[in-house]
Amino acid sequence: MNYSFDVVVIGGGPAGIAAARSAAQKGATVALLEREEELGGILPQCIHHGFGLQRFREELTGPEYAERELTLLAKEKVEIFLQTTVVDLHPGLIDAVSPQGSLHFKAGSIILAMGARERTAAAIGLASARPSGIFTAGAAQRLVNIEGCLPGKKAVIVGSGDIGLIMARRLSLEGVKVACVVEILPYPGGLLRNRVQCLDDFDIPLLLSHAVLKVWGEKRVEAVTIAKLDEAGKPIPGTERKVPCDCLLLSVGLIPENELSEKLNLAMDPATGGPVVDQDMETSVRGVFACGNVVAISDLVDDVTKQAELAGERAVELLRNPQSKQGVPLKMGKGVRSLYPQILVRPEPVEVVIRAASPMDKARATIGQASFNLRNVRPAQAVKIKLSAAEVEQILEAQGGTVELEGEASEN
Ligand SMILES: Cc1cc2nc3c(=O)[nH]c(=O)nc-3n(C[C@H](O)[C@H](O)[C@H](O)COP(=O)(O)OP(=O)(O)OC[C@H]3O[C@@H](n4cnc5c(N)ncnc54)[C@H](O)[C@@H]3O)c2cc1C
Repeated sequence: MNYSFDVVVIGGGPAGIAAARSAAQKGATVALLEREEELGGILPQCIHHGFGLQRFREELTGPEYAERELTLLAKEKVEIFLQTTVVDLHPGLIDAVSPQGSLHFKAGSIILAMGARERTAAAIGLASARPSGIFTAGAAQRLVNIEGCLPGKKAVIVGSGDIGLIMARRLSLEGVKVACVVEILPYPGGLLRNRVQCLDDFDIPLLLSHAVLKVWGEKRVEAVTIAKLDEAGKPIPGTERKVPCDCLLLSVGLIPENELSEKLNLAMDPATGGPVVDQDMETSVRGVFACGNVVAISDLVDDVTKQAELAGERAVELLRNPQSKQGVPLKMGKGVRSLYPQILVRPEPVEVVIRAASPMDKARATIGQASFNLRNVRPAQAVKIKLSAAEVEQILEAQGGTVELEGEASEN
């Protein structure tokens, strides 16, 4: 079957929902393609609170946030294609498969919103005989919150990012004993509020500078060997200990889902793992926009919604007024692990999202000639800096700018 739309959005998570809504609000014909049976992306399985504080001024659960966004989406004319998996992409053309067969879409603008997937045991080179009982934290979350079953009775969690912390609390509430959370880095990964509410409140030990060296068990996980790491990240002999457990949850990072983006030969940024985007959230290929976790992993869904609205709006503006643009780069300097947008195109206010390379209690960020004082900079929490139109103009005139973060190093 063949279709034609002004804008086609790939992925029906919070990014895709907001992008589709904002494009439709601008009067475009819009299709939203989602491979699952329902919209919402990761949100339906995130039954904890912590969504929507900025956007709705209320602390919502993931399903509640999704419901609010879907109510807003229902007010707009967006054609939704569920159980529709995009399998191939060319500029302006999208091929998908669905229970109805092959679907082919012509699109004026394409918006990529495919989210992210979790790193697995293979990604961290975990030594094991591949027994059952090893789960990514997101898979365990789905088991508990959607399927209604437990991954085990005694768990060890690898990685102190937010998903690992939230699962430590979730399992404890369901009666699973969480022996410890093991973090390879010398500082915790997740947001401070999650460390307090998910570990401290449940007396779950967080072992920093520790790693799981071996998983014991042939058919089922029986124990793991953990050890302390030295400053070079090598296990310190004599610190090994065996921790009995019947499941191991891995919360070792998310990878933006960009196999489709690669089909378009988009310029990619190894630092974010996503496509390079300009301040319109447009990629290096004209008419292809991106938003949400596909661009860079976001801590807060509220930020995802905001940037997706921008992508939707700009995708329609391009169709109405296809002016050529000339971009200048924003480059990473000292102390910066990643940033976006990587390209600036015109003098208007822009929010630059930066990840620090290490924790700093007090820091100074410089972007081009502008500088900003910051406190409590943590790699786990994106730093968002609003540049004024004048500050962006200076960078444009200088043909680019560098972003640096300098400050007092922090222990945690
Ligand atoms: C466990 C967990 C806990 C979190 N906790 C919080 C929190 O407390 N507060 C907060 O603000 N944020 C939280 N977040 C972050 C927030 O949920 C994400 O930032 C947000 O979901 C990202 O939205 P997205 O639309 O980019 O991606 P996703 O939600 O992953 O949606 C992507 C969608 O694209 C679809 N898709 C992918 N490929 C294709 C394809 N080829 N064809 C068709 N469809 C496709 C997928 O099926 C999916 O529905 C959490 C995230 C996780 C994983």
